[in-house]
Formats: sequence, C-alpha cells, structure tokens
Amino acid sequence: MMAETIGERLQRVREEIEEARRHSLTGEEVQLIAVTKTHPVSLIREALAAGVTDIGENKVQELTGKIEEIGPQVRYHMIGNLQSNKVKYIYENVALIHSLDRRSLGKEIEKRAAQTDTTVSCLLQVNIGREPQKGGVDPDDAIKLVESLQDFQHIHLKGLMCVAPNTEDEGELRNCFRNMVKIREQIQGMHYDRVDMDILSMGMSHDFPIAIQEGSNMVRIGSHIFGARNYNK
Ligand SMILES: *Cc1c(COP(=O)(O)O)cnc(C)c1O
Repeated sequence: MMAETIGERLQRVREEIEEARRHSLTGEEVQLIAVTKTHPVSLIREALAAGVTDIGENKVQELTGKIEEIGPQVRYHMIGNLQSNKVKYIYENVALIHSLDRRSLGKEIEKRAAQTDTTVSCLLQVNIGREPQKGGVDPDDAIKLVESLQDFQHIHLKGLMCVAPNTEDEGELRNCFRNMVKIREQIQGMHYDRVDMDILSMGMSHDFPIAIQEGSNMVRIGSHIFGARNYNK
C-alpha cells in the first residue's frame, strides 16, 4: 500500500478547512495547529517542510523536549491539562496556553510571568460537554473565572478553547460549538481588561468541519495529519 505523505495529508486537511470556511457563519481565517503528541521529531520536520507554523502538545515533558530539539522555527501551543507546578517549564516558550481553566493555575502563570516581566497568552478552556473526565471550567462558571483572573496583569486572555464530546452526533456537536460562541459573546460584552475573545480554538480531526462552520477560527488536528497514535508503545 502506498502511504500518503504528511504533505499530502496536510493538503487535504487544508482543503477541508477551506471548504468548511466557505460554509461558516463568519468566513474568518482559520489557523491550523498540527497536534504532534506521541509523534517523533522526524515527522514534525516533515510537517514543517510542508508549511506547518504551529504545533500543539498536551504533555509538558514531551513539549519541552521537542522545543529543545526543534527550536524557535515554529510556534508551540500547550493544549493539554496543565499542572501548576509545571508552568515554569513552558510559560516562556509557548505562543499560547489553551488550557487555563482555574484560578490557581492562573495564579501560578501570573507569578512566573511577573517575575520575568513577560505576558503570557492564554485561552480559557471550557468543558462544554460537562464531561467529568475532561478539563475545562464548567460553562456556567466561565464568566466568574474570567472575572477572578482580572487580578493577574501578566495574563492576556485571548479567547476560548474546548474539546467537544467524542460523538458522531452532529446535533450535539453543533450545540456545543454554538454554546461556546455564546459564552464568547457574553465575555466580550463585559469589556474586561486584558481580555479579548479573538480566538475560538475548537475542532479536532473528527469534528473540525462542523466547528469551523459554527465559528471556530483555530483547529487542533492530529490524527488526520499524522495518522493514528499508539499510546501503548
Ligand atoms: C490530541 C488532541 C487534539 C487532536 O486530536 P485528533 O483527534 O488527533 O485530531 C486536539 N486537542 C487536544 C486538546 C488534544 O489533546
């Protein structure tokens, strides 16, 4: 069997993004984050050669190892659950932390960023399907959390992120994405300092066309580009 190259898969994903964007409510540009977790640096280099500018990782140790090996030629996104005691390893080297979902984590990011007089860009992760095993703030508590992050002058909150339920039910997915858009509008309406809601990071391999149609402007795609992950190796 002739395996498709990373470049060919990327091309297909880009076409699917473009197609979904034509049917989206906003018509906005969509930024692609290539999710490289579990995949070796050699594959990542192929993706970079094919034009990838942003990669996403969900584990601190793997992320820092890849940053060390690949260097600053690409932007790094922390997309996974983040323990406060690991913030120090990544906050200076990531373009965006997608998984800010509690005040205690914000407090640690603030502490580190203040010490080095930097600003850390974050997204508020919302547990839009209210799934107990998933990270993210409960949708009903999102505004309260944003308000409680107002103390933190070195955090720039740039938008929202969610991981939708792993379901084929298109109606349920659309519902989740629409609720994200509503929460975003609510937060925008509060006109908080250091908060803009420009980014809506939603959509993965199984649901990104629907997410884009509903207004996502940042998708995080792994398996459609790199193939299935093998967690057991
Ligand atoms: C793994 C992961 C993705 C990508 O998932 P695929 O289904 O492989 O596209 C996106 N977002 C988060 C937070 C992830 O952990």
